[in-house]
Amino acid sequence: MRLTDTHCHLNLTDAFPDPGAALARAKENNVDRVLLVGMDTETSRRAVELAKEHECVYAVVGWHPNYAANYTSSGLKEIESLAQEPEAVAIGEIGLDYHWDYASPEQQRLCTTDQVELAADLGLPVVFHCRDAYADLLDWLEALQNPPVRMALHCFSGDERDALRARALGCWFGVDGPITYKKADDLRRIVSQMPTDRILLETDSPYMAPHPYRGRPNEPAMLPLINDGLASLLKMSPEQSADITTANADRFFALPPANFTPR
Ligand SMILES: [Zn+2]
Repeated sequence: MRLTDTHCHLNLTDAFPDPGAALARAKENNVDRVLLVGMDTETSRRAVELAKEHECVYAVVGWHPNYAANYTSSGLKEIESLAQEPEAVAIGEIGLDYHWDYASPEQQRLCTTDQVELAADLGLPVVFHCRDAYADLLDWLEALQNPPVRMALHCFSGDERDALRARALGCWFGVDGPITYKKADDLRRIVSQMPTDRILLETDSPYMAPHPYRGRPNEPAMLPLINDGLASLLKMSPEQSADITTANADRFFALPPANFTPR
């Protein structure tokens, strides 16, 4: 079995002072590829650095809506140059977050618009972060004149209607630890109805640890617990859901085949 953690933050140095050790534990648990996601220039730079150091690591670079108050045009320039590194496979995580109010909706929208345009220009897929803002984000994506090549809603937490709208738009869905939580029956029902060829498996480490580690620091090595939860929702074996989600990661992020080493 091979699994790909398509969204985690080993690039956060406080949470992961030794990312190499976390990668080794991931590998022991069949997680042989890991995508590190940036939230601003510093974390995006670190994601690319780690991707250059470790062959199993890829970078997603971008400016998170919660940091949009500090967003600048020079920041965008740096994201643009990082996005052109060979290790960078997508723009993210970008989007809208109305749960916290670290940045105004206007600041978030400006920051996200610029990066969606950048992704479309560079032909890169986009990983969206969305919290308590699905209606606005989906309205906006539906009206886009020049949408990016592929779009994913990371850690999907919308309702059934949001999921249907996103599906109609061709969006992909990030599935994380919450599908294993006791009171997540609504989410489980929604995930069980998602198109299986558009599900991306992710830990969002160090956040969102799956049951029975909820509330503790998460890491890519815990991805098999999420895969087990997904497999039971989809009524298939963990091996089958690993095969499907690994192939999905290949397609969404256009990752090189496993036996091909470009660098
Ligand atoms: Zn994240």
